[in-house]
Amino acid sequence: MLDFVLRIGYSVSVKIKPIVSIVKCEDYDAGRVGDAVAEALRLAELDSSFNSGQNVLLKPNLLSARTPDEAVTTHPALVTALGKITLERGCRVAVGDSPPFNGETQARYDRLCEVTGIRAVADELSIPLLRFEEDVVRAANPEGRFYRSFEVARAALESDVIINIPKLKTHGLTAYTGAVKNLFGCIPGIRKGLFHVQSAEQRETFAQMLVDLLGVFKPAINVMDAVVALEGEGPNSGNPRHVGLIIASADPVALDAVACAIIGIDPLSIHTTRLAHEQGLGCGDLSSIDVRGESIESVRVSGFKQSSGHNDWARIPTPVRRLLRNQLVASPQVRSGECVGCGDCARACPVKAITPGKPVTIDLTRCIRCYCCHEVCNPSAINLKVGMVGRIVSALLRKK
Ligand code: SF4
Ligand code: SF4
Repeated sequence: MLDFVLRIGYSVSVKIKPIVSIVKCEDYDAGRVGDAVAEALRLAELDSSFNSGQNVLLKPNLLSARTPDEAVTTHPALVTALGKITLERGCRVAVGDSPPFNGETQARYDRLCEVTGIRAVADELSIPLLRFEEDVVRAANPEGRFYRSFEVARAALESDVIINIPKLKTHGLTAYTGAVKNLFGCIPGIRKGLFHVQSAEQRETFAQMLVDLLGVFKPAINVMDAVVALEGEGPNSGNPRHVGLIIASADPVALDAVACAIIGIDPLSIHTTRLAHEQGLGCGDLSSIDVRGESIESVRVSGFKQSSGHNDWARIPTPVRRLLRNQLVASPQVRSGECVGCGDCARACPVKAITPGKPVTIDLTRCIRCYCCHEVCNPSAINLKVGMVGRIVSALLRKK
C-alpha cells in the first residue's frame, strides 16, 4: 500500500490518498476545455502547485506530425488552456517535446509543430517553443533500479514545474500510454529509439526504464487529454475514440491507474504502473486513490479496443533484431589491459551480465545497456561502442 503518509509527532499518522479528478469535456471547444481544465485542477487540489515567477514547462505528447483530429498527439486546446492559466498566475511558460525522428533537425520539428497545432499555441500565448535536442544534459538518478543516469532535455530538468499533458492511447509495446510514458519525451530524439531497440524483447525492462525516468522528473501536475482517445493499434496507427474526459492528478501513476480502469484495463497489468507502485513512486491501487468529480463507474467506456501487442521491433526476427541492437545501441566493451579486476562493475550491473575476473567478461545478450558499469569503473576500463550501422543512421538523421 503506497499511500502517502504524513507523520505528526511520534505516534499519530494520517494517510493521504492521492487525488485524481475526472471532469467531463465533450469536445475541443476552447471555452469548454478551459473550464474543464480549471475544474480538473481545482478538484485535484493542483491550483496552488505553480506560482508567480516560476519556470513552467508544458509537456504535451507530440509523437508525430499528425493533425489534432487524428488523436495521436495531445490536442492543442489543452495546451492553450494550461498555458493561459499559468501565464495569468505570472509564471514564465514554455512548451516543448522531443518527437522520435522529428526533433533531430529544426526543419522537421517546425513542420511537426505546424501540423500538430503547437506552433499556433506558442504564437497565441507568445511563449517559447522548445526543441529538446538543442540542449541536452546528463541527469543523475542514483535511486534508479536499472538506469542511474539519463541524457535528458535541460529544459525539462531545470524547469520549476513540469505540467505533463499526455494523450490517452493504447501502445504496442506497453499496452497503454499515459502520464508515466509521456515523460519518455524528455529524452531527446534518437536516444528514445535506442531504448526501444534494446527493449523490444524485454518489455518489463523498458517499463523499468520509464519508472526510473519518473524518479528523475516527478511532474508536479499531470492533465490527460481523454476527450478523444486513440484505441486499437496505438500509439500511432489506432483509431480515434470519443471518451469525453479530462483527468488530472499530482500523481502520474494514480492518473494512469484511473485512466486504465476507465478504458477496461486492469491498472496493475500495466508494467509501468505496477513497478512504480511497488517502488513507491506513485499509487497504482484504485482502492487507495481519492477519485473526485465523475466516478470511474459513471464514465467507463465499453468495448475500448486494446492493442494487439505488436510493435514494429517485435515483428523483426530475433537474430536480426539482436544484430541491429548490437549495431545501433552502444555496447560496453572491456579494455583488457586496463581492467584491474576490482569487481565494481559486476556489483553495479543490475542484471548480473558481468562475470568477475581480470579482465571481467560481459554477456551482451543479457546486457540492457544501462551503462552503470561504465560509470563506476574508475580505471576507465570500459568503453561504449556504437556499431558502424548506428553511426551511419545517426549521421543521416542529423543531415535530413
Ligand atoms: S570496474 Fe573496471 S577495473 Fe574494475 S573489474 Fe570492472 S572493468 Fe575491471
Ligand atoms: S553490462 Fe554494463 S551496461 Fe550492461 S547491463 Fe550490466 S551494467 Fe548495464
